[in-house]
Amino acid sequence: MTKVTRTGAHLYVFTDQLASELMTKSILLLSLLYNAGVRNWDVIIIGGGIIGLSLAIELHKRDEKVLVVERGAPGREASSAAGGMLVDCPLETHAALQPLATASARMYPEFAHELEVESGTKVDLRDHGTIVFSPEVSAHKRSGFALENLLPSRLAELEPALAETNLPAFYLKERSVDPKGLTAAAIKAAKNRGVDFSSGDLVTAVNVSDGRATGVTTTKTSFLAPKVVNCAGAWSGQIGPHPFPTRPVKGHMLCLVSPHRDLLKHVIRTPEVYLIPRSDGRIVLGTTVEEAGFDKHTEIATIQRLQRAAIALVPELRNAKILEDWTGLRPGTPDALPILGGTATPGYYVATGHFRDGILLAPITAKVMADVIGGIGTEYDLKPFSPARFD
Ligand SMILES: Cc1cc2nc3c(=O)[nH]c(=O)nc-3n(C[C@H](O)[C@H](O)[C@H](O)COP(=O)(O)OP(=O)(O)OC[C@H]3O[C@@H](n4cnc5c(N)ncnc54)[C@H](O)[C@@H]3O)c2cc1C
Repeated sequence: MTKVTRTGAHLYVFTDQLASELMTKSILLLSLLYNAGVRNWDVIIIGGGIIGLSLAIELHKRDEKVLVVERGAPGREASSAAGGMLVDCPLETHAALQPLATASARMYPEFAHELEVESGTKVDLRDHGTIVFSPEVSAHKRSGFALENLLPSRLAELEPALAETNLPAFYLKERSVDPKGLTAAAIKAAKNRGVDFSSGDLVTAVNVSDGRATGVTTTKTSFLAPKVVNCAGAWSGQIGPHPFPTRPVKGHMLCLVSPHRDLLKHVIRTPEVYLIPRSDGRIVLGTTVEEAGFDKHTEIATIQRLQRAAIALVPELRNAKILEDWTGLRPGTPDALPILGGTATPGYYVATGHFRDGILLAPITAKVMADVIGGIGTEYDLKPFSPARFD
């Protein structure tokens, strides 16, 4: 209501009721403006390692709007540190994991090809097989798994650079991939598709309202989504509300520049060291399995030990220069199996704990998790991987 003053000006007088109506309307207007600026996603993925990236791409293919929130730069942790052996052998794989491991190994050529096409970068997927030196070869034979036993003459034919040895050896048909190239391609492919990223943004909590996940809080802001997936690798247990029992398991690695490009063709595995040739002439050596918390310090003595073990197998590596060395933190779990599926909080999911096989398991994890998140069920038995087994 208005009053005319002595000077003739209109003076606006607010009654209590009018003031309160105006206040309510301004709050409504402000919240409308605010919400128009705040973006919503269908799914938020915590962690931009190979598991989070592969899942983001798979969900995007299924028309979901996806945001990946990464505390550092995507792909810089375990996923870039890995050797990239795609081990799909019942002798080395946990029985409960075998169906997923085999399915994932089969998916790899298409998975890598799609990433190459969508990113425009090369993924070094190799298909030359693995030579395993193992004192337990006779036990392996008894297990009934078909092995090609390698006599010394056949070994020399397959891999002439190997030193003579009496160790029992067998051949496995298995692929390998360069995880750095793979992860870089997955980041590009996800971005090219329209997956959103918030990098340098640490998730401190998954937000829950009325018992359901509603998004995440980060050190910078908060993001809204009705579905959240924890793909934070070795750090997954640090994010509330569910303390998943993941722990870091450290591994040392180094990369040699081979004296000549085709020195080795196959992946070579012994109990002391493994050697993974890349197509550009680099040879990656690994690894250790260490309980050292979140320490990523590189021990020179460990690097030298791995290098000496490699030289004993392939003497020509004596002349190979070390290009780089590093460590990485595998996401370990108490039973060495991944944690996959929905949690006790509706809308909150987890895909973590891939330990020594996360590069291998990325394509199948993306598929089964997208099925679970989409509520369409999966053909695989995920009970052994249920987060509820640790309740
Ligand atoms: C030395 C070594 C050798 C390996 N060799 C092989 C191999 O030969 N074959 C194989 O299949 N696998 C191998 N692995 C295992 C494989 O690397 C892992 O299982 C896999 O990379 C796990 O992927 P991830 O995405 O779960 O974890 P990561 O790659 O560690 O990604 C997790 C991401 O989450 C982010 N994050 C963590 N906390 C938060 C937070 N609060 N907010 C936001 N972001 C967060 C991290 O910064 C990180 O980028 C190896 C691992 C190591 C270390």
